[in-house]
Amino acid sequence: MPASTIKPGLLFIGGQWVESAAGATFRTINPATEEPLTEVAEGRAEDIDRAVTAARKAFSEGAWPRMPAADRGRLLWKIGDMLESRVAEIAEIETLDSGKTITESSRVDVPMAADCFRYFAGWTTKIEGETVPVRPPCFNYTLREPLGVVGQIIPWNFPILMAAWKVAPALAAGNTVVLKPAAQTPLSALRLAEVAQEAGLPPGVLNVVPGFGAVAGTALVEHPGVDKIAFTGSTPVGQEIMRRASGTLKRLTLELGGKSPNVVFADADVEAAVRGASNGIFYNKGEVCTAGSRLFLEESLHDAFLDKLQAHTAKLKQGDPLDPKTRLGPQVSEDQMLRVLSYIDKGKKEGARLVCGGARPPGKGYFVQPTIFDGVAPGMTIAREEIFGPVLAVIRFREIEEVVRAANESAYGLAAAVWTRDIKKAHLAARALRAGTVWINTYGLYDNAMPFGGYKMSGFGRELGRHGIMEYTQTKSVWVDLS
Ligand code: NAP
Ligand code: MG
Repeated sequence: MPASTIKPGLLFIGGQWVESAAGATFRTINPATEEPLTEVAEGRAEDIDRAVTAARKAFSEGAWPRMPAADRGRLLWKIGDMLESRVAEIAEIETLDSGKTITESSRVDVPMAADCFRYFAGWTTKIEGETVPVRPPCFNYTLREPLGVVGQIIPWNFPILMAAWKVAPALAAGNTVVLKPAAQTPLSALRLAEVAQEAGLPPGVLNVVPGFGAVAGTALVEHPGVDKIAFTGSTPVGQEIMRRASGTLKRLTLELGGKSPNVVFADADVEAAVRGASNGIFYNKGEVCTAGSRLFLEESLHDAFLDKLQAHTAKLKQGDPLDPKTRLGPQVSEDQMLRVLSYIDKGKKEGARLVCGGARPPGKGYFVQPTIFDGVAPGMTIAREEIFGPVLAVIRFREIEEVVRAANESAYGLAAAVWTRDIKKAHLAARALRAGTVWINTYGLYDNAMPFGGYKMSGFGRELGRHGIMEYTQTKSVWVDLS
């Protein structure tokens, strides 16, 4: 698909494709070429207000929350099937807009987004209340009801997948939605809106308003007509959203950043752990909230492991993300590339040993070489802060208590992994690690049925699975006097 054939993006509000009220637009670019892809209408406060009004109308008067749950399920399933039938086209858009490889977008992001709609389609008919044994002669039961209008704000690292994780459960529970995609990657969310429209989703049930966080995002967070904000993004923005949402006491779920420890014990399957460590940090060019950015290696295995990891890294092909052989695309934007390079600089200045990478390769595109630092001390900036790029910090350890303590010494708690053949050690470590997800002898596995979310400053609330859909409901207690 030549970039010139990508049509300009509009706002999707109340079932209509519209310009922004102010006539504002912004450009989205291809980070592999640094060239603009197309213009997209920029939603501002007035547009957010129009979208919230449409979503409120669809919730209060429309068919969506009132139709038989199975009918809602059928529509969501249809959206999943339609996404799947357009994998090639949507994956290409996603790769052009974000720089992620076509292999990832066509095999992982888009198919998983389709599955997410089908997974939550099944939940529509399984949202049940309870009967509660209150004092006789009364009777009490609960209803699990939708929240109303949900505002959803997503980042640029998994654009279509984050849209699916947010939209599918919210709609399954009978809510209506206003979605603001990231300004760097608005195109796939607009494709999702097209699919929803063609599938026959009633007007106003899903509204998609691209724009900037400081303008459209803030307007959504502060809007009195929005009942909940579901946010995925950085911890500082999550904190800002929490402050701003307090004015209207909105419900919140926050999926924030991470600095996840990946712990390899000397008794691990080394080949598997090398692949896991590499995928853990270099998958999606390191722009992964659960990236295994702190690699803890047991002393006796350290040198041999690092040699293998370096050799493995040297084989990763970096370049055109549309080439199926490419393993590492460009960072999403110039800003993000510069941020990653500045962290690499700090690593060098603070005395970590550069094993490989460490620079921007020559030529066009916002690429950063896959980079490994050894000899990282826990106090160094690259051991503490989320870099969100292909930069790995390697730290040595001697025993389990020491590594658990060091791994938990982080403001974040999104994910962690342990590699060992000792089943007892694996499960003890899994319990001791303070993280919302722990992988044993693997890294980065996801499933729509799992609960996913953070401990500590990685946020709160869970997405996916039963926990994920419940976050889009509220409980009503109903009393009946039988006397
Ligand atoms: P970000 O800067 O926090 O932005 C995320 C989204 O929030 C974007 O749509 C952004 O709009 C919007 N936003 C920015 N400021 C806002 C404000 N004041 N009010 C409302 N919305 C605002 O994060 P990012 O750089 O796009 O994404 C990287 C971060 O996301 C990393 O920290 C990563 O760990 C995290 N992440 C977490 C998970 C998880 O599930 N825990 C998953 C993926 C990513 P703009 O388009 O204008 O920036
Ligand atoms: Mg882009």
